[in-house]
Amino acid sequence: MKILVTGGAGYIGSHTVVELLESGHEVVIIDDFSNSSGEVLDKISMITDKEFVFYEGDVCDKNFLESVFAKENIDSVIHFAGYKAVGESVANPLKYYRNNIDSTLSLLEVMDNNKVYNFVFSSSACVYGVPDTLPMKEDFPLSPTNPYGYTKLFIEQILKDLSHSNDKWNIALLRYFNPIGAHESGLIGENPNGVPNNIMPYIMRVATGQYDKVHVFGNDYDTEDGTGVRDYIHVVDLAKGHIKAIDYLNSNDGLSIFNLGTGIGHSVMELIKITEKVNDVAVPYVIDERRPGDIDEYYADPSLANEKLGWKAEKDIEDMCRDAYIFAFKNN
Ligand code: NAD
Ligand code: UDP
Repeated sequence: MKILVTGGAGYIGSHTVVELLESGHEVVIIDDFSNSSGEVLDKISMITDKEFVFYEGDVCDKNFLESVFAKENIDSVIHFAGYKAVGESVANPLKYYRNNIDSTLSLLEVMDNNKVYNFVFSSSACVYGVPDTLPMKEDFPLSPTNPYGYTKLFIEQILKDLSHSNDKWNIALLRYFNPIGAHESGLIGENPNGVPNNIMPYIMRVATGQYDKVHVFGNDYDTEDGTGVRDYIHVVDLAKGHIKAIDYLNSNDGLSIFNLGTGIGHSVMELIKITEKVNDVAVPYVIDERRPGDIDEYYADPSLANEKLGWKAEKDIEDMCRDAYIFAFKNN
């Protein structure tokens, strides 16, 4: 099958392209390099030794999309392209609503024009509100706490309305928990511009000596060691979930929602300690104030994805900390 991957030069997109190519799919990537670079494409070629097609451009631009669909006989689309920094979305919400929602609307309209109806969307666990119970299931109440999360919730609603309007659409909403780690080759991974907002890239900057210490945001949470607990998932496991979702849409109609997580929570202190242990490095830290808006603990119930997609995360937290470090070490 020929799969269009928007945002395929990004962190999760690049790992998904590798898995798609390795499972025999043809791949067409669109990216505007607003948060990535062309180097990633060379790395994908080095890892897979397979060919793919790349178009540089903006997914919001319908004329550009039409030109791509005219040249390529696309079967299915995986839509990663979008902005993802929570803090920036609070400071500049219009930028986030414009890019994330516009890109999705343009893409869906051009898909419809070209009679392409299989769509996999990158949603996020941040669409959920603060959970009353754990683990989090797909039918838990939805209540994001920032503009980025609202872009995901609004797009989910657009996709639900679209699916109700016409049963030709086959849509998978994948709600990712906390993707970390890197491809085992160390060639592709996560290396954000500037100071990382997320914990794992920050730990990696400390582990590789670029920063002095990790700032642990609070140790008085209602968790076993007092630091925040999240469901970290290896990016390669997450990527594999997309291949399963593409297969699923070929034989299942309508809209489906799946949590992609491991179902296991780990604390900030565990991440630091495991990174030190598996890589034999020091990760100094200091306990700081809580970060406003953070919640104590959450992790997924991934059993629906397990049952319906035949997907389960296989890599554990040690694999995640090891692979993240190999990438960080090679690329710092
Ligand atoms: P990323 O920033 O690494 O990748 C996104 C890619 O999309 C980048 O290469 C960027 O250049 C490109 N892009 C952005 N807007 C574009 C546009 N209008 N046209 C063309 N290309 C565009 O992010 P990621 O971590 O790989 O995330 C991929 C998707 O998964 C995003 O939609 C994100 O919101 C979602 N997601 C990410 C996480 C996470 O923690 N990384 C968690 C949940 C959901
Ligand atoms: N965190 C931290 N220091 C940092 C960044 C994050 O202690 O520099 C904590 C944060 O409070 C949360 C966990 O790490 O408990 C995961 O945060 P991240 O921003 O990576 O992901 P989130 O779950 O907030 O999307």
